[in-house]
Amino acid sequence: MASSIPKTMAGVLIEKTGGTEVLQYKTDLPVPEPKEGEVLVKNEFIGINYIDTYFRTGLYPAPHFPYILGREGSGTIVSAGSGNTYNLSTGDRVAWMAQGAYAEYTAVPALYAHKIPDAISSHDAAAALLQGLTALTLIREAHHVNKGDWVLVHAAAGGVGLWLCQLLKAVGARTIGTASTDEKVELAKKNGAEVMINYSHEDVAARVKEVTGGAGAIAVFDGVGNFGNASGAVPPVTIARLSAKNTKLLRPTLFNYMVTREEFETYTGELFEFMTRDKMDVRVHEVYPLKEVARAHQDLEGRKTTGKLLLKP
Ligand code: NDP
Repeated sequence: MASSIPKTMAGVLIEKTGGTEVLQYKTDLPVPEPKEGEVLVKNEFIGINYIDTYFRTGLYPAPHFPYILGREGSGTIVSAGSGNTYNLSTGDRVAWMAQGAYAEYTAVPALYAHKIPDAISSHDAAAALLQGLTALTLIREAHHVNKGDWVLVHAAAGGVGLWLCQLLKAVGARTIGTASTDEKVELAKKNGAEVMINYSHEDVAARVKEVTGGAGAIAVFDGVGNFGNASGAVPPVTIARLSAKNTKLLRPTLFNYMVTREEFETYTGELFEFMTRDKMDVRVHEVYPLKEVARAHQDLEGRKTTGKLLLKP
């Protein structure tokens, strides 16, 4: 197996921050060598996440240049470094989260690679992992949602949004979602949102009050303003505003809930179980060829997409 690993590969890197013009598709990048505790994965699908655009624009600083964007994928392990690789070995089909995803091969810390169950395709695993885990940890850790709770989900037809709608339904909570178009409203409803608000022309606060009989939602998951920055850096909030309703404000990050192997394994196992047991809809907007990554970023930032965007190396 190892002898079939080439020396060079295709991938997408940035040498500076900016618009989609800084995304460079190359065909002569060195295939990484797995270090201790890492496995080398030949990627079958690469997941695009909104965070990739933050590193491209410079909203989040890239650790170095040139920098290969992307944080998740699925594929087959083709070699393993020394040390603890958590019983993963060559030939295993895995879904993973790590840096350097926009490429044919990625050296992945084995800590963040998980075997894909036979019932789940590599396509669906790459589409589910990062956004599904984000949604799952939001409803378990950021605010533990209980059966019957009313929860407000912004951008409910987006990648994380559709997972939130489905998972909230699966745990018996009631979702009020928001989205910018009627098509997105319909899609989120199909995925479990009980009430949808088109925030292009409806008053969100008034509708939430009306739907909940004046009580309001117990939690608000907002990828535009609390667990993400889809419309740019979030402006500061005056803390005194929270006193009116004893509101708790949290700015959660997925990786802080995934520090240990046990946490990663438990939540990934649970996500895969939800997917198979509850037959969740893995909505993929489009599988873009890796060299068309600029079009994918433009579609995502242009609010043209629903669900997940994948790249095919
Ligand atoms: P989405 O598929 O949700 O795409 C973003 C959506 O946000 C758009 O489709 C759009 O929906 C809405 N939106 C509102 N305002 C804007 C704007 N000005 N520009 C662009 N989009 C806007 O993306 P993801 O599912 O990948 O990510 C959703 C959010 O979750 C992001 O902010 C991301 O950073 C965050 N995230 C956070 C994580 C964490 O660990 N904290 C982990 C993963 C994601 P509409 O048209 O309906 O308004």
